[in-house]
Amino acid sequence: MMQEKTFGNLVNGEWRISRENPPLEVLSPVDGSLVGRLSSMSHTELDEAISAAKAAQKAWAAYPVYRKAQLMYRAADLLEQMAEEISECLVMEIAKDKKSAVSEVKRSADLLRYTADVGKSLHGEAIFGDSFPGGSRDKMSCVTRVPVGTVLAISPFNYPVNLAISKIGPALMGGNTVLLKPATQGAVSALMMVKAMQDAGLPAGVLNTATGLGSVIGDYIVTHKDIQFINFTGSTEVGQHISALTSMTPVIMELGGKDAAIVLEDADLDFAADNIVDGAYSYSGQRCTAVKRILALDTIADELVEKLKARVERLKTGDPREPGVTVTPLVSTKSADFVESLMRGAIQQGARLVTGGQRTGNLIQPTLLDRVTTEMDVAWVEPFGPVLPIIRVASAGEAVEIANRSEYGLQSSVFTNNLNKAYSIAAQLEVGTVQINNKPERGPDNFPFLGVKSSGMGTQGVRYSIESMTRPKAVTINLT
Ligand code: NAD
Repeated sequence: MMQEKTFGNLVNGEWRISRENPPLEVLSPVDGSLVGRLSSMSHTELDEAISAAKAAQKAWAAYPVYRKAQLMYRAADLLEQMAEEISECLVMEIAKDKKSAVSEVKRSADLLRYTADVGKSLHGEAIFGDSFPGGSRDKMSCVTRVPVGTVLAISPFNYPVNLAISKIGPALMGGNTVLLKPATQGAVSALMMVKAMQDAGLPAGVLNTATGLGSVIGDYIVTHKDIQFINFTGSTEVGQHISALTSMTPVIMELGGKDAAIVLEDADLDFAADNIVDGAYSYSGQRCTAVKRILALDTIADELVEKLKARVERLKTGDPREPGVTVTPLVSTKSADFVESLMRGAIQQGARLVTGGQRTGNLIQPTLLDRVTTEMDVAWVEPFGPVLPIIRVASAGEAVEIANRSEYGLQSSVFTNNLNKAYSIAAQLEVGTVQINNKPERGPDNFPFLGVKSSGMGTQGVRYSIESMTRPKAVTINLT
């Protein structure tokens, strides 16, 4: 897998380094050190990886389900044994704090085991014709789920292990083979996870990887004739680009978001503040489900702002290797420049800087902006950094209206002690999922997770993911 920090790709059961292109360097956002070198695959080498996946698919689909599940269990155990090594890599490769890095690996092992169990318990159904007018009991349709074929899994930088596993596990349990294309930053950690899966004993070609810059190899793989499904997580911009290129290929798109936390007058404000600060700033806000705006009722806004400020100022920032640090340098200078300009723009337009506002290198201090108006970019744009705008609203109705005016529709939170009111607001919110009295979050991983509008299409979550990457096949028996 590795030669002096050069990581090859898994192709047809072998770790291969590009014969044609020089490697790409992955440098640490923590201290600029070399994390590893990645193979930059040529089109011919990508063809080889996709052919390997295609060639292995029929035999893998026929592999007994309980044995597929055994491999997932073994991979989960190996992954847990590698938790220290992989989490160390996550810390340096994407500047994730150590505690979150360990929890990402452990959660991924749990996810694999759960996926194995769900994969074993998926059954088809038999439908009789006589439930439809004019139909007959002599007609019976046996409906089973069959794999879609070769799945291209494209993952983002922020959860290199978990978001890759959440695609690979369900795809494999559904009988598909996979080509994983991880984000360049995060690919070393993702390849370590793939090694655990391969060492568990996956047959050659069942899981393959492709590294190389998305902007260079992306269009080639997404339009490849032998890719039958694309499971993508990343930015809305890239997701829309891929959708435009691949009209007849089924996709899951999990894209950007602007998750709102709506705080009503009867919320427990200490509880809401704890949740919001955790939700907005952990891993420096680089999470699709980070709280990205607060819509607070005027009547409680002053008190809420004070409670948030006190908590934000207690956050530890800096080096992800230090215990207790949650806000770390952003993944790239480009990203830090973007977040800084969004923050500065809002202050120039009249937002009140409650706390934060400074930048050192790529570390942005956790920033809270009050009195943000709907004229400001920060009210609508996804920062993917530790900047949280507060928009004050006069009523719950106004909160819903502003929440829904966003181009995004991933998740929303409602904080209130009135469950009836919360449920009624949840029903009106144009998002994939709603949290009542909790920060937005993807898990538990057996729950459905999806975005609407520019936040995506298709549904993830173990059973939903397996169903998305399989299709029904109906065989109708006509008794004579
Ligand atoms: P990104 O869109 O820059 O990259 C995502 C992946 O796409 C990477 O593997 C990249 O190499 C690849 N890529 C780039 N160009 C491509 C092309 N032309 N064809 C194919 N692949 C290409 O996203 P990122 O910066 O890694 O991640 C951050 C974004 O991801 C944020 O917008 C965040 O909200 C989103 N995200 C969404 C979810 C979700 O579940 N909805 C989860 C995590 C992150």
